[in-house]
Amino acid sequence: MKTKIEDITMPALAVRGLVVFPNVVVHFDVAREMSEAALRAAMSDNKLIFLTAQKDEHVEDPDIKDLYQVGVVAEIRQLLKGSDNVLRVLVEGKYRAKLMDIYQYEPYLIASVREYPEIKKIHTEEIEIEAVMRAIKQAFYQYSSIVPRMPKELVSSIMNENDPFKLFDTLVFNVPLAVEDKEMLLEESHIISRLGMLLAMISREVEVLDIERHIQERVRQQIDNTQREYYLRAQMKAIANQLGEDDDFQEEIDEYSEKIQALDIDEESREKLFKEADKLTKMPSSSQDAYVIRNYLDNVLELPWNVSTKDKNDVEGVKKVLDKDHYGLDKVKERILENIAVRELKPDIKGQIICLVGPPGVGKTSIGKSIARAMGRKYQRISLGGVRDESDIRGHRKTYVGAMPGRIINALKLAGSKNPLILLDEIDKMTHDMRGDPSSALLEVLDSEQNSAFRDHYIEIPFDLSNVLFVTTANTTQTIDPPLLDRMDIIEITSYTREEKFHIAKEHLVPKQLKANGLKASMLKICDEALYILIDNYTKEAGVRTLERKIASICRKAAKLIVSGEKKSVRISEKNIEQFMGAKKYLDDDLAKKNEIGVVNGLAWTSVGGVIMPLEASVFDGKGNIETTGSLGDVMKESAKIAVSYVRSVADKYGISGEFYKEKDIHIHAPEGATPKDGPSAGVTMTTALVSALANIPVKHDVAMTGEITLHGKVLPIGGLREKTMAAYKAGMKTVIIPAGNKGDLEEVDNIVKDNVQFVYAEKISDVLDVALEKKEPRYIKPKHRDEIPERPVVRS
Ligand code: ADP
Repeated sequence: MKTKIEDITMPALAVRGLVVFPNVVVHFDVAREMSEAALRAAMSDNKLIFLTAQKDEHVEDPDIKDLYQVGVVAEIRQLLKGSDNVLRVLVEGKYRAKLMDIYQYEPYLIASVREYPEIKKIHTEEIEIEAVMRAIKQAFYQYSSIVPRMPKELVSSIMNENDPFKLFDTLVFNVPLAVEDKEMLLEESHIISRLGMLLAMISREVEVLDIERHIQERVRQQIDNTQREYYLRAQMKAIANQLGEDDDFQEEIDEYSEKIQALDIDEESREKLFKEADKLTKMPSSSQDAYVIRNYLDNVLELPWNVSTKDKNDVEGVKKVLDKDHYGLDKVKERILENIAVRELKPDIKGQIICLVGPPGVGKTSIGKSIARAMGRKYQRISLGGVRDESDIRGHRKTYVGAMPGRIINALKLAGSKNPLILLDEIDKMTHDMRGDPSSALLEVLDSEQNSAFRDHYIEIPFDLSNVLFVTTANTTQTIDPPLLDRMDIIEITSYTREEKFHIAKEHLVPKQLKANGLKASMLKICDEALYILIDNYTKEAGVRTLERKIASICRKAAKLIVSGEKKSVRISEKNIEQFMGAKKYLDDDLAKKNEIGVVNGLAWTSVGGVIMPLEASVFDGKGNIETTGSLGDVMKESAKIAVSYVRSVADKYGISGEFYKEKDIHIHAPEGATPKDGPSAGVTMTTALVSALANIPVKHDVAMTGEITLHGKVLPIGGLREKTMAAYKAGMKTVIIPAGNKGDLEEVDNIVKDNVQFVYAEKISDVLDVALEKKEPRYIKPKHRDEIPERPVVRS
């Protein structure tokens, strides 16, 4: 160690990322030319060189301010040029020195340096030194226990080192410290402070290492956990394998995942399905829960999420199909074609729901099917008759035992496309009870604003119904929930005339039934007259359903004859029809063929179409009681009272005793007593029957009538004119009296009716009586005693 302090000049080397201490031998590589030049210059002199660290190791040509002021004078032990052209240097630090100046920068640094001696150890500091040495040894011990692969010899040599300087030198060499830290240590001249600083640095390092170790521990634990789970799963799989369950199960789950991935649904729904499939992995494959989930996934995956058919939208083509399938029904066909034309112009049109309203058997259902066929859509029918529970429409939550999707989703599944035509049959027969209102669920189904995300309770994820074409049917609009009715476009299909029935039978029903029974046209011929007889004498209906059944029955009988070899072909005419069909059921003489007193042909409108409703009135001596029988509703009973009051006011005109309401009992009866009848439109009929019975004037048997009356005898308009007049025509009526207020509705009346029936428009009841009653002088007929009236079933309403 030098004693005299003086500045000396020597080559200097700026080292990067390294601080060399006195008494330490280190080697490092140099790359810069000026460094090599400095080393070589020193080698050729006294081998001494000044080494100082660069503050920023990225600086290529450091200035004096880029270098730490305190460095070390070192002796070069060795210079070795490696194969990679890098110069490897081995030096030994000799003593600390301060950089005073730099004389030369090129080709290498020459610096003037001054030795920077240690402060000598003072005796009184021994205890302090002892303390800091112990502390630092302890810290190092901890350090060595954390750092992996610390040589045991090194640890023990440090533990046994009693010289503070040597201890410092060894530690500083073996503990990795940042350049700045090392430089701080180098600059510190007092050994106690230096050891203290080093102690702080090692302790910090220990702390950092400790935290690092904790973090690593945690990470390892996490990895361990996943490995553990993986291991357990593998084990589970092995066990299940042993039980012969597993492989298929896993395959099944994988298959579900693949299918879910392929579905065309929103991500939220997909996520939900994945979650369900994932649940499967966590339960035994044969458990009840697994069964429920499987069932659920199967149901969801079976739905036609991505399948749709292409619509045939050419109006001509569709018209052809509709005409081929159905006779007449022009209004319905027209409406469908309009619908399709609009679709052509605006393909994304929504919310057109057609409701076909009409009596049974007029082809509502079958035209629905035909529309689907014409448009190239899949067809499904949902019968709503008797549906009373919301879950019928919307399904049960899958947590219920045996839960299933509702009818809508089921229909879609069966249709196998997301744009089928769904026929909601008998929407008017839906009821509701305390289990929820099905019509509000249906409202959502039919509402184009809401149905693009229809949620079935079972399926849970939304299904888009906006591409479905809904067609509904009903016998009457009266029992349809008003909000539902509001959503729909009502098309009325009225009952068929005799002629229409004939055409339908000849052109559609007969060929259809021949085919259905495997007969060729040459094998069975039903003559036109025979068809008319079927219509007139074997059926009594608004539609053609029974007619079709009768034709089917003829076909079966013919098939039997042909198969048994009895006949080669069968011909049905008016002569042999009774052999096939049995005796005629309905004969024309159902209705009165001659004018009678107190018997009037009323006209009524029921859900099965229009009917002739004869009304009978009888008068007996009595006390002014009015009795009504034949299932008359309240409104009809009121009509009877109004009729009595009116007759009192005109009693004189018809020669009726003004006191009749006190002296006579009146009995009004509507035959076919079991059929409930109601409505105000029998007012004129009642009055006519009453006047006829009281005044003993017969009523013309070929006149039918309908109309409500007021107390003052005014005739008010009624509904169902088309159906009622059709019934009158069918029954062979010559004259039909209708309220003058209904004159405007006459255009809806069938032409065949208008051609064959004379219409009389009544303003007042006297107009009716003028036409309906025979023009005869009133004659006296002894009133019957009430016991002479035959018994009839009495059904009171
Ligand atoms: P609804 O649904 O109105 O009760 P359906 O559709 O069940 O009546 O019709 C009964 C039968 O009558 C079906 O076989 C149907 O094809 C046939 N039918 C009804 N109207 C016509 C028609 N205009 N043309 C051809 N067949 C018809």
